[in-house]
Amino acid sequence: MEVLFRSTRNHEEKVTASQAILKGLADDGGLYVPEVIPKLALTLSEVAALSYKELAYEVMKLYLTDYTESELKGCIEKAYDDKFDCKEIAPMTYADGSYYLELFHGETIAFKDMALSLLPHLLTTAAKKNNATDEIVILTATSGDTGKAALAGFADVPGTRIIVFYPKDGVSAVQEKQMVTQKGANTHVIGIEGNFDDAQNGVKAIFNDKELAKQLKEKGFVFSSANSINIGRLVPQIVYYVYAYGTLLAQGKIKEGEEVNFTVPTGNFGNILAAYYAKCMGLPIHRLICASNENKVLYDFFGTGTYDRNRKFILTSSPSMDILISSNLERLIYKIAGEDAQTNKTLMQSLSSSGSYTISESMKDGLKGFYGGFADDNAPLQTIRKVYEADGYVIDTHTAVAASVYDAYKKEMKDEHVNVIVSTASPYKFARSVAEAVWNIEKDGEFPVKEDDFELVKLLHKVTGLPVPKAVKELDSAEILHKTVCKTQEMCEEVVKYLK
Ligand SMILES: *Cc1c(COP(=O)(O)O)cnc(C)c1O
Repeated sequence: MEVLFRSTRNHEEKVTASQAILKGLADDGGLYVPEVIPKLALTLSEVAALSYKELAYEVMKLYLTDYTESELKGCIEKAYDDKFDCKEIAPMTYADGSYYLELFHGETIAFKDMALSLLPHLLTTAAKKNNATDEIVILTATSGDTGKAALAGFADVPGTRIIVFYPKDGVSAVQEKQMVTQKGANTHVIGIEGNFDDAQNGVKAIFNDKELAKQLKEKGFVFSSANSINIGRLVPQIVYYVYAYGTLLAQGKIKEGEEVNFTVPTGNFGNILAAYYAKCMGLPIHRLICASNENKVLYDFFGTGTYDRNRKFILTSSPSMDILISSNLERLIYKIAGEDAQTNKTLMQSLSSSGSYTISESMKDGLKGFYGGFADDNAPLQTIRKVYEADGYVIDTHTAVAASVYDAYKKEMKDEHVNVIVSTASPYKFARSVAEAVWNIEKDGEFPVKEDDFELVKLLHKVTGLPVPKAVKELDSAEILHKTVCKTQEMCEEVVKYLK
């Protein structure tokens, strides 16, 4: 069955999957969603028998119906190859009462690799299919991990250029170094004097600038997005939820059909939205636990039905979740509004004009499968230590937000379902916080003051024995290639300058 995509803000225009991937954002500023969410075509025991790549094809073909079998399989082969450091691609580890679904075994050691290893191939295939000859300019705002994963994915991909904006003072030292040392003649990295929301708003404004789009079109350029608003990011993320379920089943940890919980450290709401789509496809999920850090706009939303971004932006030890406008929530709002584009549009207009909106009582019913929790910034560090002391397992600060929220959830709800914590980054990406958390003063002595984050990588290795990933080892000596910094208001100018 062919699946078409339409905007969350109007039902006039319908596009194919490849067109939706090419465009990123719909013309009316809405997000592309499938007209119907397809059902899983396999039984759960069939799922359990498949490799990651085989399953990726079986899940994604249900959405990307205008890609041929050989196109889609070709994209999958190129994405999930030995860039990943283990053959399972998304392995699972049991520690401290939960399963940890490790999504950080790709090139840039964060979960963004799961989709961004694939997106460049989906996109260039889409361009060919639609006879698009313009050079594709990927514009990306990043809270730290998307930027690097997108740069790595698109570097030197013919017919593309990539421009990444990141908050100059809002990412970890390792994250920044990963980005500013990116090679590739088609890559461009710019720090902005602002936070992630400023970066994301700036990028959205550039996307919506019709005049600019016209000028660039004359020069042979067309914009697209690698942010999780692109449906080409969302669809690959559905795969690992189904895969995780299959792994539990194959290992005899659950019975076929048994419901499980997923706890997801959340920022832009992309990762957990993919879990929600998996549930809509028929995957047996009891509850989706949405874990926020101190920027707890989603926690408040799940509790009150009011989304309100008018608050102070807090920098935390989980920077990739320091977000007040969770773009992908729009896809959930649309769904719980009964796929009513007009209702969604009105709420989104209210968000952009006043910074808040409130959903109706009947829409609140659609949130019943979710639980929103948050962790203040001490909790993740304590949790990293607790999990390490319990089982010698080291988790990063984002994953620790999820683990903290899950502990509180379990205490409050006495829910005994098997729980999977989605583990989104390697601890080495946030070595400073993790090293401090696992440091044991009695055993290891006073925590040494280190200015250089790469010294902390060595320290973390010394204390835990956890192997240092290649991606981090190479960084220490890598040359800095990108030095541009600009103000939020200058983002558009920078883009024009670069494309001259
Ligand atoms: C991006 C990111 C998140 C948040 O994921 P969303 O899809 O934006 O909700 C969590 N943890 C890490 C390490 C990330 O890079």
